[in-house]
Amino acid sequence: MKYPFISLKEINKPYEKELQEAADKVIASGWYLRGQSVDNFEKELADYCNVKNIIACSNGLDALRLILKAYISLGTMKPGDEVIVPGNTFIASVLAISDNGLIPVFAEPSEKTYNLDTDKLEKYITQRTKAIMVVHLYGAACWDEKLYNTAKKYNLKVIEDNAQAIAATADLAGFSGQHNTGALGDAAAFSFYPTKNLGALGDAGAVATNDCELAERVRALANYGSTKRYFNPFQGYNCRMDEVQAAMLSVKLKHLDSITRQRRERAAIYEAEITNPLVGKPLFREGNVWHQYVVTVSDRNKFRAYLESKGVETDLHYPTPPHMQPCYNGYAHEELPITESLAERVVSLPITEGTPLEHFHEIAQIINEYNG
Ligand SMILES: *Cc1c(COP(=O)(O)O)cnc(C)c1O
Repeated sequence: MKYPFISLKEINKPYEKELQEAADKVIASGWYLRGQSVDNFEKELADYCNVKNIIACSNGLDALRLILKAYISLGTMKPGDEVIVPGNTFIASVLAISDNGLIPVFAEPSEKTYNLDTDKLEKYITQRTKAIMVVHLYGAACWDEKLYNTAKKYNLKVIEDNAQAIAATADLAGFSGQHNTGALGDAAAFSFYPTKNLGALGDAGAVATNDCELAERVRALANYGSTKRYFNPFQGYNCRMDEVQAAMLSVKLKHLDSITRQRRERAAIYEAEITNPLVGKPLFREGNVWHQYVVTVSDRNKFRAYLESKGVETDLHYPTPPHMQPCYNGYAHEELPITESLAERVVSLPITEGTPLEHFHEIAQIINEYNG
């Protein structure tokens, strides 16, 4: 028996006909950039996420870069300012910060949530701190009153790296604001990389914000810094989403609630049936969209080899934290024991929608038979 970690072909199979028709329409239209498909997708995603502005763009890294670049362009931040970012994130979160001449300040996650430990946040704040980049890691919202109040107290922007958590919600009893990721902070970045919960058939991303001035600047910066044709008040980039990807994403956005439901159903099987004391399960929260289902084990290599021998493919998110990557060697001596310990113990199990439910009962059984 084989339990693949992910199969993009299986994920997209249910929508094949709809995707083909949508692609045909774009091809026949003769209009491939900055057209109706992108306009439509931006409106649909804005409705879905309860935000005023969506700017479709090239990918998730560019979405994050554009947000920070726009804040610099507006004078809210300047190169040399500090942005707090969790130590245990995908490297793109950090690249967006350093690419803008800003300084990433790595903060520790909580053992329990894998997300930023908001109780410890204040110790990372200095005179130069301008923003907190929260990463809704593995599909679980990183948001609580502590974070909200700390950001307010020090007048910091909250930027959400929402690459993994579209459709997730924060469970905040008594909090009156928005509860869905992408609408929690001042601006949010989405990725539609093919393996993400809402996956395109190539690279794509988006910026979400209720700040209309920021939105306008992001939109200009993503299009050569131009506000109207051949008029360039800013030095920008080319970070546009193309019409074909926008059309693919409109098709899949209609199915996102079903995709989320299916992933939750699969995570619930693991939650109910994995009982092996050697395997640490992730915190089970209602609003999680389970981009990854990540367990922790002490002898990871042995555990993975055992699963592989039973046909269960696993992956690692992520084996090396950004501060230990060669490109950030200046940070190698940071004290991030929780980040480093998680990096040594995490194992991602198969979780994708479309896979038969029996697989998940069987994988749970296989895991329970592991005896170290
Ligand atoms: C995927 C991802 C990104 C980058 O998105 P791309 O579209 O691949 O550029 C950024 N941050 C996190 C947490 C991600 O998972």
